[in-house]
Amino acid sequence: MPELPEVETVRRGLAPAMEGARFTKVELNRPDLRRPLPKGFVERLEGKTVTGLGRRAKYLLADLSSGEVLMMHLGMSGSFRVAEGAHEQRPGAYHHERSAARAHDHVVFHMSSGARITFNDPRRFGLMLLVERRALADHPLMRQVGPEPLGNAFDAAMLAKACANKKTSLKAALSDQKVVAGLGNIYVCEALHRARLSPRRSAATLATRSGKPTPRAEKLVAAIKDVLHDAIRAGGSSLRDHRRTDGELGDFQHNFRVYDREGLACPTPGCRGTVKRIVQSGRSTFFCPTCQK
Ligand SMILES: [Zn+2]
Repeated sequence: MPELPEVETVRRGLAPAMEGARFTKVELNRPDLRRPLPKGFVERLEGKTVTGLGRRAKYLLADLSSGEVLMMHLGMSGSFRVAEGAHEQRPGAYHHERSAARAHDHVVFHMSSGARITFNDPRRFGLMLLVERRALADHPLMRQVGPEPLGNAFDAAMLAKACANKKTSLKAALSDQKVVAGLGNIYVCEALHRARLSPRRSAATLATRSGKPTPRAEKLVAAIKDVLHDAIRAGGSSLRDHRRTDGELGDFQHNFRVYDREGLACPTPGCRGTVKRIVQSGRSTFFCPTCQK
């Protein structure tokens, strides 16, 4: 499933085609994705201008001139293609399968910029909703979403407070969207390795008894920000036919230190450990038991 860096890469790829442009025509090839598309979806988009394309957690948020926001989520296998004349781009690079089969082209936006933007989603876990801008923060999908990890408000004190009374592991806490938004399996594993913290460590150890952040919380916040910045700079992570807007493959997967590297040598300088895979909450965790404590 795409995580924050992959969704941000998609946002940056779509923004030039969408921002300041009007929906001239919207085609729907089916009535639903993960949920039914909103009532009057076509009419509520056509003729409206996209005043800005933002992102919150793993949601793309297109602000419309009508005062509504088009919320879009890629789900497991959603992707966009942007065609301008004969030139086609596929913004975003994900660590998952994607398809070019036209049978899975579910929604097509024709923009006044001249771009045709196609949403393709073979597994249909994706989502498109229309929400009033002023009701967005209270929307059931947004209400519980935790802080943006790249935002200034996200710091050691905030993370320590969120984890202080948790009975879960660090892996589970960081994967919890209420604690911090947008992280999934890949970047949680990578951030914990960079911070040299074990995924099995109790999340509560990020805080002192009085709830203040420990040095571990400081290290972990820095590692989270670093790994996300590095991944966004690389255009996200990809395994297969995943291309950025400029046609290059997102290549952060070559920088994975532990994710998907079971049995390989730990890349921490001076560490002679081997990357191990364990299962936590049904998901694979990759880490180095030698240098992650
Ligand atoms: Zn190591």
